[in-house]
Amino acid sequence: MSDQQKPKNPERHSTYIQKEKKSTKPFHKTPMLDQLESGPWPSFVTGLKRLAHNNNMMVDLLGQLEHSYKTRLGYWKGGTVSVFGYGGGIIPRFSEVAAMFPESKEFHTLRVQPPPGNHYTTKMLRQLSNSWNKWGSGLIAFHGQTGNIMFIGTTSENTQHFFDEINDFGWDLGGAGPCVRTAMSCVGAARCEQSNCNEQKIHRLLVNNFIDDMHRPALPYKFKFKVSGCPNDCMNSIQRADFAVIGTWRDDIQVDQKEVKAFVAKKGRKYVIDNVVSRCPTKALSLNDDDSLAVDNRNCVRCMHCINVMTKALSPGKDKGITLLIGGKRTLKIGDTMGTVIIPFMKLETDEDYEKLRALAATVIDFWAENGLEHERCGEMIERIGLVNFLEGVGVDVDPNMITHPRTSSYVRLDEWDQEAAKWNERKQAAG
Ligand code: SF4
Repeated sequence: MSDQQKPKNPERHSTYIQKEKKSTKPFHKTPMLDQLESGPWPSFVTGLKRLAHNNNMMVDLLGQLEHSYKTRLGYWKGGTVSVFGYGGGIIPRFSEVAAMFPESKEFHTLRVQPPPGNHYTTKMLRQLSNSWNKWGSGLIAFHGQTGNIMFIGTTSENTQHFFDEINDFGWDLGGAGPCVRTAMSCVGAARCEQSNCNEQKIHRLLVNNFIDDMHRPALPYKFKFKVSGCPNDCMNSIQRADFAVIGTWRDDIQVDQKEVKAFVAKKGRKYVIDNVVSRCPTKALSLNDDDSLAVDNRNCVRCMHCINVMTKALSPGKDKGITLLIGGKRTLKIGDTMGTVIIPFMKLETDEDYEKLRALAATVIDFWAENGLEHERCGEMIERIGLVNFLEGVGVDVDPNMITHPRTSSYVRLDEWDQEAAKWNERKQAAG
């Protein structure tokens, strides 16, 4: 690096600091890994090699990886590694081929909670990467599917040092194991005009309330909160969260007819009919002769399609709130499940509203902790015991808007249908 290229303040420049550290081990031959760099896309192997110039741990990690590819076997085993006061947050990895690759014999991952909405400052990112260069391999993933920042590759001893240092900066470990996991929330109102709720506030409320369940795993299995500000669901909460909070609205879509006409003038009637009107899943849209848009709001299912296409002309309604879904998860015992709506609409404005949300989350976790089998996600428990029993257990009344899937069968059992409908009507009137 020439003097000219050197940053004025090297302390604040992590790449400069990293370049000063040099690995002292020669690289292993990695012909199979090298092939992965030959395709058109950026390869993780290139990234690992770049880090290996700066530390021996990555040199041996590449050697072990090549060895795994050759023998078609994985050589990592688990164990127990933690920091003082915590029971989770670290994924231990010990190598079974440590004799061949001693520098990477311990390669633990630390899960660290991201700020809600992933709002970082450059100062925070520098602090994190400087600390990790000091105590770990330098390899960081922003972010794992659970939402954490993944600091991948350190020794048992350095785990505590790294944690102590970043904890001083205000960072905390996330969840790993049978516990409440690190939550995720979308960037939200800070940068997205479709936001219908205070995503960051909900995220913090839930995480802070269940922090003990995150750090000391004592639940049947993992439990994830995810918060998306609108039905676009950028956090994949329907698919991936046991407790999904999604911002929505219950009045009419806001339509700026001037902007609709400008959009039609720019794109043409055919484009609007082909790409907006006819793609509404419930046929709730029509384009009038004067190029204005009519929305049948009673039939709108908040899919967001029209709003996503005509961002200037259409926006969510003004009466905003959230929908709550329970039981989404990826594969395990019964395959993937999508979240089921248990609260179709709820306002989140006052402290009491937030308290209601917190209390419901606590009730759901308590009920699942009592009734879930070992290694059984909340959605799997609901499948096993039945949705009605779950709702009774958590004290939520059945509502016709609790939709898991649009009806596909014309056969519907009608026994006691009228009595149930009458009960629902009574409840609705009582609630005003
Ligand atoms: Fe139709 Fe979806 Fe637009 Fe609602 S949000 S009107 S369902 S396209």
